[in-house]
Amino acid sequence: VEIYERTSAALADRGAGIVTHPPLHQDLVAAGAIWDGDLGVKVPGRAVLDRDGTIVVEKILPQIVTSWGLLYGSLKRAFGAEHYHFGRSALSVEIHPKRPILRLADGTAQEFDLVIGADGVNSRIRGQLFPQMQPRYAGYIAWRGVVDERDISPQARDILCERFTFGLPPGEQLIGYPIASASHETRRGKRRFNFVWYRPAEESTVLHDLLTDRAGHRHGLSIPADQIRPEVIRRMQADAAELLAPVFAEAIQRTRQPFIQPIVDLESPSMVVGRVVLIGDAAFVARPHVGMGVTKAAGDAAALARFAAVVESELDDALEKFSRQRRVYGAAVVMRARCLGAYMQTQQLTPEERVTAERFSTPEAVLSETAIDISLAGMMSGSFLPSGPSEVSSVDLPAGPVATAQ
Ligand SMILES: Cc1cc2nc3c(=O)[nH]c(=O)nc-3n(C[C@H](O)[C@H](O)[C@H](O)COP(=O)(O)OP(=O)(O)OC[C@H]3O[C@@H](n4cnc5c(N)ncnc54)[C@H](O)[C@@H]3O)c2cc1C
Repeated sequence: VEIYERTSAALADRGAGIVTHPPLHQDLVAAGAIWDGDLGVKVPGRAVLDRDGTIVVEKILPQIVTSWGLLYGSLKRAFGAEHYHFGRSALSVEIHPKRPILRLADGTAQEFDLVIGADGVNSRIRGQLFPQMQPRYAGYIAWRGVVDERDISPQARDILCERFTFGLPPGEQLIGYPIASASHETRRGKRRFNFVWYRPAEESTVLHDLLTDRAGHRHGLSIPADQIRPEVIRRMQADAAELLAPVFAEAIQRTRQPFIQPIVDLESPSMVVGRVVLIGDAAFVARPHVGMGVTKAAGDAAALARFAAVVESELDDALEKFSRQRRVYGAAVVMRARCLGAYMQTQQLTPEERVTAERFSTPEAVLSETAIDISLAGMMSGSFLPSGPSEVSSVDLPAGPVATAQ
């Protein structure tokens, strides 16, 4: 396997927290990923804080929350440096019945058994296979950031770094949890606090303003953190002081470089075209409320490795089966995430969506349903789905995400 990564510097940490689920641990172990200490920080449960900082609902729910950097570092160590090529951007793929050709931005081209588009939400490979499929803006954004726990007050640390916390201003949602340090330390005193604050942002007005940079240039659906206008950050911090518990406002205030991510949905019609395969966010992007994007991406990779381990003459059939199985899973994750996030959308909701939005907007529902492995979340009955894609049914669903481990 050769990996071509467009980023030129060695990727170390993207300053983002990641909720993990047991299937992800299994897939990491199966892939030979190793980590020195814990995979992340173990939190015993969850709590909703009201505007005054009082805990209004609590739930015991042990979970491991981690950092993007720690997961990435463990996989990178396992893969090694020899076949990992930084600063090499995929440009296009030439589809041939047997040996697709990958063209890179530096003008080189090479033939492979398989070309795997694992190039994220704005995948070039998907753009070429399915030009009509574009990420669909969901009507709200996430402000994200991390702050060292030693940079916040002891009172804020005691509340925010010992559990998974939620703040629920009307029509908005903030989640926060402790993650490993930039050097992957998970011990008390060394950790960071990570937050994700979902806020409605009407596309032509609020979003337009948020994504207009210091030079007055309007970005598409992402803006580099250092290009966000200072007044936009100051306004967000002032809103935090007005709408959120003081401990959240303090952590946000002390975050050096908050960044913005518009929330999108995306479902590819297929994960395979000939010998070209899409996995992870390149294939399906679920809103982050399920906290399953990384688990899904790892599950896709593990399933592909398993399905593709056949003789050449059986490969096309095997890839077709891979696509069928993982599309069902991807579509189910996307659908569940849409339900969980519906109450934050700025768009007009259908009556059916309004019912779903209401159902998932209470503090109790947010606390119990957010960032839960879908195989534990009533998925098998399909009961929470308002009108899911036809292929998502209790009959078709794989037996949990570890369909990959059979
Ligand atoms: C606000 C927010 C919170 C989230 N929280 C969680 C969470 O708690 N838990 C969770 O599991 N998931 C979470 N996610 C989702 C998760 O981050 C993604 O699902 C996951 O990163 C997808 O992994 P991927 O490898 O498919 O894509 P990516 O992580 O996007 O990786 C794609 C890689 O491809 C590279 N690349 C792109 N184009 C090219 C090219 N042309 N050539 C070469 N390389 C290229 C990129 O540089 C990048 O390194 C969250 C997402 C958001 C927006």
